[in-house]
Amino acid sequence: MKLTFRKDRPASCRQVGKVLQRYLDGEIDDETRLRVADHLDECRRCGLGADTYLQIKAALARQATEPPADALARLRSFGERLASGHEPGGAKS
Ligand SMILES: [Zn+2]
Repeated sequence: MKLTFRKDRPASCRQVGKVLQRYLDGEIDDETRLRVADHLDECRRCGLGADTYLQIKAALARQATEPPADALARLRSFGERLASGHEPGGAKS
């Protein structure tokens, strides 16, 4: 079995953030999926982002109501932090 992702060049948080929702929805190619999974195993920050998104999905699946507002807000700020390249922390108001 040939691994197509490279251990010496892991996906960055920014790259993971860009594809995280597609990854969690299963709409992603195998190579990218492996790299994201590898990253989530080692990166607590992105792991938390993934958990938040899964919570939203689970809430939507359980009941056809709106997802928790705080979870949506956390996911949004998470994505914005990744996109801007800023480090997390101190962003709470
Ligand atoms: Zn990360």
